[in-house]
Amino acid sequence: MIDFHCHLDLYPDPREIARHCIDREIYLLSLTNTPSAWHGTASLADGAKRIRTALGLHPQIAHQRKSELSLFDELLPKTRYVGEVGLDGAPEFSKHWADQILVFTHVLKSCETSGGRVISIHSRRATKHVLDALEKHPAAGKAVLHWFSGTQRELTRAIEIGCWFSVGPTMLMSEKGQQLASKMPNDRILTETDGPYAALDGRSIFPWEVNRAVSALAKIWNMRLEDAGAQLKANLTTIAS
Ligand code: MN
Repeated sequence: MIDFHCHLDLYPDPREIARHCIDREIYLLSLTNTPSAWHGTASLADGAKRIRTALGLHPQIAHQRKSELSLFDELLPKTRYVGEVGLDGAPEFSKHWADQILVFTHVLKSCETSGGRVISIHSRRATKHVLDALEKHPAAGKAVLHWFSGTQRELTRAIEIGCWFSVGPTMLMSEKGQQLASKMPNDRILTETDGPYAALDGRSIFPWEVNRAVSALAKIWNMRLEDAGAQLKANLTTIAS
C-alpha cells in the first residue's frame, strides 16, 4: 500500500501510527506543514525504510511562517521530497495571497536550484495559479497535485505540463472525484489519505485505509485489485527513481 500524502506528525500518537505503518509495510510520504517541524517529523521515520519525510510550508500558514524560508533552504539538501506546499484560494486564506505567492515561488525556485524535487502540492480553489507557477519553474521537479479538485480543462492542462496526482478514499467517494481520476493517466497516479485531516466514517482516516482508494481505482480502471496495486507500485518506483 502507498500513502503518498499523510501528516503523520499530526496524529495524537504519531509513533504508534508509524509503527503500524512499518508493520503493514506501507510506503508513506510523511509531510510537514512548516520547516521547524522537520526534525521531529523526520525522527518518526528512523529505522523505517518505507517512510520518507517531505519538507513543507503549507499555504494556509504561509503568512505566519514565511520567516522559516531560510530554514527551508537550509534543510532542503536533506530530502528529495517537498510538501506540503502550494496555494489556497479559499476566502479565509486568499487574504494572505501575497504571502502565499511569495512562499510558493521561493519554494519552487529553491527546488530548481537544488536540482529538482518530488513536490506534493495543495491547490484548493487555486489550480490555475498553481499551474501558472509550475509552468514558470519547469525544473522544480515532479509536481504531484494532491486531492485535485479543479475543472476538467484544468486537469487537461495539468496533464499537459507533466503533473502527477495523488488521490484518496474521500476524493474517490464523490462522483466528481471519480470522473477526474478516470481522466488522469494511469501511470501518473499515486494513492494518499491526507490523514489525519481527511475523514472517513466521521473520524480521521488512517494510512492503511488507503486500500479503499486502490479498490476505487481498480473499479475506475476496470482492472483486478492486484493489477491496480501493481500499477501503483510501478508508479511509485518511477517517481522515486
Ligand atoms: Mn495535506
